[in-house]
Amino acid sequence: MANKFAGRRNLDFLLFEVHDVERLFSLPYFEDHTRQTCELAIDTAMKLAANLLYPYLREMDEKEPVLEEGAVRVHPVVRTMMKEWGEGGWLGSAMPYEVGGQQMPVTIRMVCDYLFAAANFSATGYSLLTTGAAHLILTHASDALKETFVPPMLAGKWQGTMALTEPQAGSSLSDILTRAEPTEQGYYKISGQKIFISAGDHDGVDNVVHMMLAKIKGGPPGVKGISLFLVPKKRPTENGGLEANDVNVSAVYHKLGYRGCPITQLSLGENGDCRGFLVGEPHKGLTYMFQMMNEARLGVGMQATAITSAAYYASLEYAGQRLQGRKPSTKDPALPQVSIIEHADIRRMLLFQRAVSEGALSVILQCGLYADLAGTQDAAARERYELLLDLLTPVAKSYPSENGIISVSQGLQILGGYGYCREFPLEQYYRDIRIHPIHEGTTGIQAMDLLGRKVVMKQGRAVQLFLEEVGETIRASAAHEALKPYTARLEEGLEKWRAVTMHRLQFAMKNDLENFLADATLYLELFGIVVVAWQWLAQGLAASKGLDGPCSDASRRFYEGKLHTMRYFFHYEMPKINGLAARLMESDDLTVGMHSSVFDD
Ligand SMILES: Cc1cc2nc3c(=O)[nH]c(=O)nc-3n(C[C@H](O)[C@H](O)[C@H](O)COP(=O)(O)OP(=O)(O)OC[C@H]3O[C@@H](n4cnc5c(N)ncnc54)[C@H](O)[C@@H]3O)c2cc1C
Repeated sequence: MANKFAGRRNLDFLLFEVHDVERLFSLPYFEDHTRQTCELAIDTAMKLAANLLYPYLREMDEKEPVLEEGAVRVHPVVRTMMKEWGEGGWLGSAMPYEVGGQQMPVTIRMVCDYLFAAANFSATGYSLLTTGAAHLILTHASDALKETFVPPMLAGKWQGTMALTEPQAGSSLSDILTRAEPTEQGYYKISGQKIFISAGDHDGVDNVVHMMLAKIKGGPPGVKGISLFLVPKKRPTENGGLEANDVNVSAVYHKLGYRGCPITQLSLGENGDCRGFLVGEPHKGLTYMFQMMNEARLGVGMQATAITSAAYYASLEYAGQRLQGRKPSTKDPALPQVSIIEHADIRRMLLFQRAVSEGALSVILQCGLYADLAGTQDAAARERYELLLDLLTPVAKSYPSENGIISVSQGLQILGGYGYCREFPLEQYYRDIRIHPIHEGTTGIQAMDLLGRKVVMKQGRAVQLFLEEVGETIRASAAHEALKPYTARLEEGLEKWRAVTMHRLQFAMKNDLENFLADATLYLELFGIVVVAWQWLAQGLAASKGLDGPCSDASRRFYEGKLHTMRYFFHYEMPKINGLAARLMESDDLTVGMHSSVFDD
């Protein structure tokens, strides 16, 4: 198979023609950047992805991490990857100059990370967690912690992690039991257990820095008693060395996919000597951690999109080469077989894959742009873009994760029996993508966050801003006759979503929270389709503008392909909201009111 895992032309189109990222360069924070500097970064990321990451996709899956005498051994190339990312400035690229970053727009950094993940998803577990942990330290920790821990992390020498989950506390973080006891020396003694910690220990780096949630003895119960600690695997000593910090790996999990990155169980303070350093104020840990969690949610959506994209290109290539059967109208066995891409059913599956991967990527970049606009302007702009980002984050995480699985499955289907075999990459993509609706908050948790919190926050202000943004795309599309049927479909979709929202809110007004949130996952699914339809209309608009101007044959074909995929989305995907809306407009308590004995044999 050829090693195409992402479309370069598509990235330029989304960044510069759909999202107009160049508008960022007039903001003081980004003034050193131009389209050329961004394209150079993307080209370099593409080369790194193709030459260092993609060649190890299969091998890192086959040689999964092992726990040997308390140490986690990973594929030796992980050290090279971390070194390359560190020395090349990739890990801190979007951070400010004063901490050694390049002030690159988050949108561009996400595109680079997307290329890395499309080439080798597991590898990006190491880099994204390190970037997120370093950013969390820079935002909330003391200068001393920043100076000690951030430089080696951004240099790719030390790994960062996000240590939240415990055996009894997965979705429900209020139930964590890890304890922090203050000492007179200023540090805290940590004791407890964390499970499922990605890149929680490995020999591809010299140290691991855990951003860990724990409860200080005597603090308030529930989430109000959660504090954030920096807990290193090895702690710095006074003479400039490192010593063990009583953080021990008790297990490495054996997973369906994502096998190139270890997921560890950690025992903290088995010998009473695990030191944690408080980050920020006591009991505010979950609020701080939301920074890393929200970034990670966008990261997960981006990784799911990347796998979806890689699977699309692999099945597209296969569909063009595989000869099988004849068209229904020409069944003569004397005629040669056709390539399967000639069959309508295969085309439908390819269009689905393309619609999901390019629609989802557009949502992710929209979020990246909101992050860039929120972080670099006045308070009013910050509020606007943060609210939009908050509203879209559950979609950016869940739409690619859930639809990516179906999309990769369709890609596997295109390869027929070969799709099921390890000789072809679809089998690995199918296993790899399955984690995404689970980690960083399951789809069910994202859905309750969307309906229970984001839609109602600030009296629905985020929803209002979202409608303004979509309205702008609809207005701009009105100038293009060919887009009119699709603006009408999007308006109908928005109206259905609005009606469903009002209906569900009636339960909330009656304080019937059980029924309000019972079908939140279906609500998220419906909203996700509406959001992606908006992004497809925006792509259709940009393609129409492209076709209106002078363009090469290749560009014309590209724009026409975009318009065709947009039409596919509106004709095949958008109608799915009708079924979802029909259910969401009902008022029974079919799941909430039932008895568990329904499941008795
Ligand atoms: C490969 C992998 C990597 C991971 N990496 C990390 C990491 O780096 N750091 C970290 O801290 N954790 C990590 N995790 C843990 C991950 O975030 C959790 O597995 C996830 O949040 C779900 O928690 P759980 O497994 O305990 O499932 P549970 O919380 O037990 O959920 C089980 C099911 O119940 C549903 N559910 C739970 N509560 C509710 C509710 N109130 N209402 C409705 N439905 C509900 C969930 O949606 C889910 O479908 C990782 C997990 C895996 C598998």
